[in-house]
Amino acid sequence: MKESVLEKLSILADAAKYDVSCSTSGVNRSNNKVLGSATSAGICHTWSADGRCVSLLKILMTNYCVYDCEYCVNRISNDIKRASFSPEEVAELTIEFYRRNYIEGLFLSAGIEKNPNHTMERLVKVLLLLRNKYGFSGYIHLKAIPGADPILIKQAGILTDRMSVNIELPSENSLKVLAPQKQIDSLYLPMKQIREGIEESVFENQYFKSTPKFVPAGQSTQMIVGASPDTDLTIIKNTQNLYRGFNLKRVYFSAYVPVNQGSNLPSIQTTPPLVREHRLYQADWLLRFYKFDANELLNEGNPNFELDIDPKMMWALKNMNHFPMEINKVSYEELLRIPGIGVRSAQRIIRQRRIGLIQYDDLKKIGVVVKRAKYFITCNGKYEGLKEMNENGIREALVPINKYEQLTLF
Ligand code: SF4
Repeated sequence: MKESVLEKLSILADAAKYDVSCSTSGVNRSNNKVLGSATSAGICHTWSADGRCVSLLKILMTNYCVYDCEYCVNRISNDIKRASFSPEEVAELTIEFYRRNYIEGLFLSAGIEKNPNHTMERLVKVLLLLRNKYGFSGYIHLKAIPGADPILIKQAGILTDRMSVNIELPSENSLKVLAPQKQIDSLYLPMKQIREGIEESVFENQYFKSTPKFVPAGQSTQMIVGASPDTDLTIIKNTQNLYRGFNLKRVYFSAYVPVNQGSNLPSIQTTPPLVREHRLYQADWLLRFYKFDANELLNEGNPNFELDIDPKMMWALKNMNHFPMEINKVSYEELLRIPGIGVRSAQRIIRQRRIGLIQYDDLKKIGVVVKRAKYFITCNGKYEGLKEMNENGIREALVPINKYEQLTLF
C-alpha cells in the first residue's frame, strides 16, 4: 500500500470512530459468481476494546468539512490533519481488504467537502466502482449527505445495503445552537425519501423480482447523547417518532466524546456518558420489542433514566400497583412488563401454559431471571419476594452497593 494512502487511512479511519451507526445485519445475498456475499445473520462482527464494530472498513471519504458543528472534531474551524480519498482509492482499499479477509463490508461516510452534492457524487462513484467495476456484492452501509440532490440519494440507495442520515442532536433547538448550518427539514427530507424508496421497492419486488432492491437493510440514524442539555425523555420521544415516521431499522446513541471547547458544550473534561447511553439502548429495546410507549417510561416530572437500574425496572418500581402479576394468568403484553422476563421467556410461558400450570421451579428453566422477577410475580399464588412488597425494599435488594466506575471510551 502506498504510504500516502496509508496515512490517509489512519486519519480517515480515526475520524470515523465517532460514528456508531454501523451495524451490519439484515441482508441476504448469496455469492453468485461475483465477489463477496452478505448474510442476514450479519457480517461476523468483531468488537474493538472500545466497543466499536471493526469488521467493516469504517472510514470517512474525507474529513474536510465546510460546516462548523460545534461538537464535531472535523468542523471547519478545527486545526486538524485533513485528508481525502479519491473514489478509486476507497474502492481499491475495500477490495484489497476484502480479499485479504480483513473486512466483510464497508461503512462509508464523509464530511461535507465543498457542498452536499459534490460529496454525495463522490460517494456514489465509490459505490458504482465497487458494484460495477469490481462486482463487489458485500455489505455496504453509506451515510447519505443531507441536502444532496434526491437523484443522488436514489442512485446510492440502489447500490448500497443500508443508508443512514444522522440526526445527531435530539432536538431542533440543540441543532440550532450546536449545528446551525443544518436544518431539521434537510435531515428529514432524505429520510423520508429513503423510507418511500424502500416501500416502493418492497412493493414492486412482489411483482417484478428483477426490480433492483432499494436500501434492503433499511435505514438508521444516530443521536449524540450528552453534547446538548436534552433530557432522556426528549431523546426517546424523538426516537419513537423516528421509528414511527421513517420506519427506521435502528436509532443508535453515541455518548458524546468531548473533542472541542465551546461555551455551548460540556466541559472538555467531561467523561462520555456511557451508562446513560446504555440505558437509552435498553429503553430503545423496550420501545421496539416490549410495546412500551416513550411517555410511559419517562415524563416531564421524571425526564431522565436512573443510572443504577434499567428502564424496565425503573418503570416497574414506579408502577407497583400493577404487581404482583400471576404468571399463569396475565397476558403476553403484561408478561413483557415484568422485570426479569424477556420476549423469549414470555413466549415460552404462553406456550407452556397451554400444556399445564407453571410451577415456581419451572421459571428458571423457562429462562426467567428469577432473582429479578420474584419481587413482581406470583406463580400459582406463591410469592417469593419481600415480606412487604414495596418500592424501597425492592430497590435496596436490587441496586448493587458498589457503584460502577465509568470507563473511558478511546
Ligand atoms: S457536517 Fe458532519 S463532519 Fe461536518 S462538522 Fe458537521 S458533524 Fe462534522
